Amino acid sequence: MVSVVSITGGKGGTGKSTIATSLATYLAKNNRVLLVDLDVECPDDHYILNIDLKKIDDIFQMVPKFDNSKCIKCGKCAEVCSENAIVLPKNNFPLFFPEQCIGCKACLLVCNKIAGAISEGKKKIGFFSKGSNYGVDLIAGFVSVGKEESSPVVKHVKKYVESIKKNYDYVIIDTAAGMHCTVIHALEKSDFAFAVTEPTPFGAHDLGKIGELLNELKIPFEIVLNRSDVGDKKLIGKIAEKLGSEITSKIPYSTSIAEAYAKGEIVRDEHIRKLAQRIEAKMK
Ligand code: SF4
Ligand code: SF4
Repeated sequence: MVSVVSITGGKGGTGKSTIATSLATYLAKNNRVLLVDLDVECPDDHYILNIDLKKIDDIFQMVPKFDNSKCIKCGKCAEVCSENAIVLPKNNFPLFFPEQCIGCKACLLVCNKIAGAISEGKKKIGFFSKGSNYGVDLIAGFVSVGKEESSPVVKHVKKYVESIKKNYDYVIIDTAAGMHCTVIHALEKSDFAFAVTEPTPFGAHDLGKIGELLNELKIPFEIVLNRSDVGDKKLIGKIAEKLGSEITSKIPYSTSIAEAYAKGEIVRDEHIRKLAQRIEAKMK
């Protein structure tokens, strides 16, 4: 049966993608592995894995299409739009700002009851691509418009992953950093997660937040402490205890890892190999 393991972290720049890609390649030695890059604003796993991605499909979102011949200029569509994507100038037809629209369909529903002047149109918000290397299949989502569209892009890619995950032993999800909707959608349906952090006050603070989120989502998780020798480990230990989790792996700062990371190369590291073995033992 497939196991879904997320690699996440409250703080950016902690080495999440380095660990996710390296972990995926170690697991791929004995398993069928799908890595999913859901850091859709700046996906970089394909650079690290040296994969030339091929597009699978574009991702669209609903936007309203106005038929002015049916419009009675009542302004209800502008009233219900929480994003201020519709404005009704005095005695005129509605003006629509597609970049503001999140596709909630509220305007469509309200107008259907009044005049039927709005139908469903669509705008492209991103795309998703695939490729393979080191025995790992990679799917990466890309948002092409703005931050607001990140969540629907993540949801779309997750839906696609759901349809193919039966072909794999492990699905490794590389989430964006932070605690926003995009990360929540990326984490949904995970069997397990590693929260990657570093021993700094910012690392401790953000670990607290992502840990609370994982507990809220009822996703069991362990903590990976990256660059463990360049800060105060006790900070992280206290947060781990508070969250009811533990630090599974302490990866010291290493020139070889830093060099590989800087060059965008795959990292070979004993600690990450052990992490892969730990996942295999846990998910049996
Ligand atoms: S709700 Fe429909 S009828 Fe009313 S202003 Fe908007 S588009 Fe026109
Ligand atoms: S779909 Fe939602 S966000 Fe977009 S214009 Fe209509 S009400 Fe506004």
